[in-house]
Formats: sequence, structure tokens, C-alpha cells
Amino acid sequence: DIFGEERQNSKGLNMNIISESEPFFAALDKFKDTNWSAGPLVNGELLTGETHEVVSPFDTSKVVGKLAFANNQAIEQALSGADAAFSSWCNTPVETRANALQKLADLLEENREELIALCTREAGKSIQDGIDEVREAVDFCRYYAVQAKKMMAQPELLPGPTGELNELFLQGRGIFVCISPWNFPLAIFIGQVAAALAAGNTVVAKPAEQTSIVGFRAVQLAHQAGIPKEVLQFLPGTGATVGAAITSDERIGGVCFTGSTGTAKLINRTLANREGAIIPLIAETGGQNAMVVDSTSQPEQVVNDVVSSSFTSAGQRCSALRVLFLQEDIADRVLDVMQGAMEELSIGDPSFVKTDVGPVIDATAQANLNAHIDHIKQVGTLLKQLELPAGTEKGHFVAPTAVEIDSIKVLEKEHFGPILHVIRYKAADLNKVIDEINSTGFGLTLGIHSRNEGHALEVAAKVNVGNVYINRNQIGAVVGVQPFGGQGLSGTGPKAGGPHYLTRFVTEKTRTNNI
Ligand code: NAD
Repeated sequence: DIFGEERQNSKGLNMNIISESEPFFAALDKFKDTNWSAGPLVNGELLTGETHEVVSPFDTSKVVGKLAFANNQAIEQALSGADAAFSSWCNTPVETRANALQKLADLLEENREELIALCTREAGKSIQDGIDEVREAVDFCRYYAVQAKKMMAQPELLPGPTGELNELFLQGRGIFVCISPWNFPLAIFIGQVAAALAAGNTVVAKPAEQTSIVGFRAVQLAHQAGIPKEVLQFLPGTGATVGAAITSDERIGGVCFTGSTGTAKLINRTLANREGAIIPLIAETGGQNAMVVDSTSQPEQVVNDVVSSSFTSAGQRCSALRVLFLQEDIADRVLDVMQGAMEELSIGDPSFVKTDVGPVIDATAQANLNAHIDHIKQVGTLLKQLELPAGTEKGHFVAPTAVEIDSIKVLEKEHFGPILHVIRYKAADLNKVIDEINSTGFGLTLGIHSRNEGHALEVAAKVNVGNVYINRNQIGAVVGVQPFGGQGLSGTGPKAGGPHYLTRFVTEKTRTNNI
């Protein structure tokens, strides 16, 4: 048991074991036509209002449900409810808060099939991605529950003269605003919320507008698990309206944001310009993630890891591989095998188990990615572009594409989809490769393939990123095992699912008692 007795990571589900997979698919099937109704949950009450229809990204004729966005009144009620509830939640014993999160983890597992169905139908995730998503959400709840108890159950005793008791306490900061992206609509959404709650903050959570229903169900489960309704408020809506309103409010005590670098900077400015205290921003943002492959690597293994890192989840992972650096002596061999491996990818309806590549999130993403493919094909040399199969015109699909380019500098920003850029390098130019990667300013994930360990470790040490993966793929960080988060343009540094994460959600207080 690598985690010790205190905590087990969720085992997920092995689809290859028939005794596990049969009941799972039967249960999943019950949610194939469910029509959900969701909206703001303010002090536990579902507020109605102007609703809009939510449709599936893989087939826009398929309705997932209806959703009401929060209006100004809902926003005000949620903030004042969370503000009023703070003192009591902050002073609730950490064991009670941790127990509620453990209970939430149990409820997420009990409701796994509904949540996976939502990940597939609302976010276009494959079944395997949905399974992993629930597993990660469960892991976050259990991990932060245990960490909070370790850090907060007892004050730290500090030295002092006889008769004086000096203690250091960690406590919640106030209302934490949690703003999440659509690409991990359950795991990141719940991860932020669980961390903030465990540390003794009340929470106003805003999901991504594209994937609010799964967040809504998770918040209902959290309330069922014993998180007081005033302590966790749920406000679906757009970034420009709800997001801007809650981040500019002077009552908030911190912001936890995951999403694009541009939005993080915008929120940073909003926080600086608002009235009230100076508060922390935890930002986990995008990447221009590279993999460096030298001539000692094993081509078949490289290709496996390149294809999974670039194209699973239709490339919509912040950790996904965007730029593959191949040492020239091995490049032709790797590219040859890679083009064959890409042909094996099955593109289509993500609710089919065999689907490897589903849709991208919406029409805007699809148009932007296709425009980038058109452009980059002019700048570089097309290596492979898959044909989209019949049926995919019903949704927002983008053909997995690999293009050879000369320099990472031709990529001005992150392209969040199934597009891989390949650059050849000469062994003597390795330091230039390292400089090129660092010159982007991003620093999220880095893959390295090499059977020369000294070489691999040197590259790992010199590239400024948060997560390095050697001789494996560079996606799928596991809670407590690969704490996740980047540096530079990729974020403010805290590692979700790591032992220091909760320190960013608390304030420190000393008490000197001259007994
Ligand atoms: P996004 O920045 O467009 O939106 C993220 C969230 O911010 C959404 O909830 C959105 O409504 C909200 N928002 C937008 N404008 C706002 C404003 N003015 N004020 C407050 N909130 C606002 O990002 P996205 O397209 O949803 O997600 C994809 C991005 O997320 C990619 O860049 C990806 O790399 C990044 N990401 C990073 C990580 C990580 O851990 N580093 C994880 C997942 C995704």
C-alpha cells in the first residue's frame, strides 16, 4: 500500500473485467436519455430563471437538459450567504469538515454512472475519461480531507518563556471563489471546492458555462454529504457576467482559478482593482507542452506515448503534448510508426467504448482549431491528418493532425485540441531545444524519452516546468502521486493533489497566552 493506511486512492473501474464492466454499462445506460434541469444553488435552493438548452458537443441535436444562469440577485444572495456562514464553518472542527468530504467521496462513487454519463453527454468525454474523472474527483476529496486533518487538527506549538503559551493556527481565509474550466468539469471543479472547504473557507463555485450540469449534481451531492448549504454556493453563468461579478466583490477572501492564461491575468487585474483586502489568486493555466526524444529511445514506446499524450481527450488536456522534439537520427522511424498509429485512432461518439477521440467542446473551439490547422499547414509540412468519419458532422469534431514545423516560435499561443507539432533537432543543438522550450514562458508538462538516464535528468533539470515525465506519456497526473501545476505563464505554482496545496487556502494566526 503506497499511500499508507490513512487513505486509498480510488481504484476506478477496469473495463476489461467483465464482472465489473457489465453492471457498469447497464447502470450507465439508464442515463442515456435523462433530461437534467439545473441552475444556481443559493443557500441550497435551486433558483429558476431564464433557462437555455444544453446540447451534446458530439451531436448538437441531442439535448442534455436545461440550465438557468445566475442573475444579479442570485449572486448577491450567494455571496452574503457564504459570508455569513464563514465564521461558523471556519470554527467547525477540521474532523467534521473532513468527514463531510469523505462522505462526498462515497456519494461520488455511488453516483458514478450518472456523473460519467454527464461527462460524456455534456462535455463529450470518452467513457474512459469519464471513469478517470470521477476517480480523480474522489481522490481529491479524500486527499484534502486527510491533509486538512494533518495540518489543522492541532496548532503548532512554538517556543516561549516560561508561563507563556505560543501557538500557530492555520485557518480559512473567508469566501473562496472557485472558477473552473470545462475540460475537467467534475475533477477540477470538485478538487478546487474540496480544497477550499477542507481548509475552512466557504465557497462560491462557478463552473464553466459549457459544463455546468455535472457541477450542479456534484454540489447537490456535497450538500447531501453534510456540507452546509450556505457554506457551498453554486453560481453557473458566463465568465464575463458571473465570473467578473464574484471576483470583483470586496467580501471574498481568495480565488482559485483553473483555465486559460488570459483569463487568469484578467482576474488578477480585477482583484487588484477592487475595493477590500489584498487576496491570493491560485491560478492553474495553459501550456505549450513539449516532449524531447533522443536517439537512444525506443521508437514504439515513444509513439504510444506521443499518440496518447496528443490525441486522447481530443487534445483537450492542459497537460497534453503540443510540440514533439525528435533527434534527427530517430525522427523518420518515429514519424513513420506514428502515422500508422494515428490511423488506428477511432473518432466519433464518445459514448461508444471503442472511441478514442471525441469532439471538441463547442463550435468556437472547432473553428479556432481548424483555422490554426489551415495556417500551420502553410507554415510547415503536413505529416498526417485523419479523415473525419461520417456522422461527425453532427457535432464539433476536429481531425487529429500532425504537422512538422521549424521552430516553436511559430506557435504564438496554446492550441487546445488534437494538433501535434513536430520539430527535428541535431544532437549538438540540445541546449537550443531547451532554450526554445523555456522561451515560450509556459511551464506545465515536459515529456522526455531517452535510455541515457544522465541525459534525461539533465533535460529535466534545465526545462522550467511543473511536471516532468520520463519514458512514459505526460498526461493523467494522479492525486498524491504527481501533484499537478505549472509555473510561469502556466500558473502561480501551487500543486493540486500535493502536500502543500492547502497552505495556499489558509491564513496563519499566532496566539500568545500569558497564563
Ligand atoms: P477559460 O479561461 O476560457 O475559462 C475558465 C473559466 O473562467 C470558466 O469558468 C469561465 O467562465 C471563467 N471566466 C472567463 N472569463 C472570466 C472573467 N472575466 N472573470 C472570471 N471568470 C472568467 O478556459 P477554458 O477554455 O474553460 O479551459 C481551457 C483552458 O484551461 C486551457 O488553457 C487549459 O490549458 C487550461 N487548463 C489548465 C489546467 C491546469 O491545471 N493548469 C487544467 C485544465 C485546464
